[in-house]
Amino acid sequence: MMSVEGLTAGYGRVPAIVDVTIDVAAGELVTIIGSNGAGKSTLLRALSGLIRCSSGTVRFDGADITNLSPHRIVKAGLVHCPEGRHVFPMLTVRENLRIAARHGRSRETERLEEVLTLFPRLGERLSQSAGSLSGGEQQMLAIGRSLMADPRLVMLDEPSLGLAPLLVAQVLEVAGRIRDRGRTVLLVEQNAELALQVADRAYVLERGRITNSGAAGELAGSRSIREAYLGG
Ligand code: ATP
Repeated sequence: MMSVEGLTAGYGRVPAIVDVTIDVAAGELVTIIGSNGAGKSTLLRALSGLIRCSSGTVRFDGADITNLSPHRIVKAGLVHCPEGRHVFPMLTVRENLRIAARHGRSRETERLEEVLTLFPRLGERLSQSAGSLSGGEQQMLAIGRSLMADPRLVMLDEPSLGLAPLLVAQVLEVAGRIRDRGRTVLLVEQNAELALQVADRAYVLERGRITNSGAAGELAGSRSIREAYLGG
């Protein structure tokens, strides 16, 4: 579904990701693990058109979407849920979800049902202002907003960031359920252990470069990965 080849991108003249090649097939949950500053968020920004790629190509459903505007990339079906729970705090949960919808009324109702099935907690809080939600609920809302755009592939950037351990597991489990409902997921995570538990395949990003890849279960069992990312 998405095929990224030789992608280099960064800020100013300094590339933060170099020659990145990854593939994501339809229906897969692929995770990108890597430590702080490895370039994970930069990769997602480059894929979603928020920063320019200086070389390489991004193909989505066969079409070249490299350096298209973020708006056109969302329209193509590739939706980015950025790090940091971006919700409109003064608007209600329902309003936050509705303004994120991309299609007409009927599809909007369908999407809303999907989001509320995944996150029943949001259903109990539809009239509450988003700013008054807990951190975990805001993260669920942020993911819900991405789903309202009806993505074929949704990219989740560190959905577990700053959450209590129990919620971390819940949020990552939701990534698996989104995949089970037929969407394709690219998950960026610092919590490698849990990410490898929910993912089908994984790539390791180190200092801007892909250094390892494979089936998630295999990587979780690899000694070097265990030592570097899973606490030995
Ligand atoms: P984290 O998990 O800590 O967010 P990450 O793997 O997502 O890490 P990035 O945020 O992609 O890493 O950062 C990769 C590199 O790019 C880092 O050296 C970072 O300092 C740099 N960088 C990130 N954002 C910017 C920016 N807006 N301007 C300049 N440099 C940036």
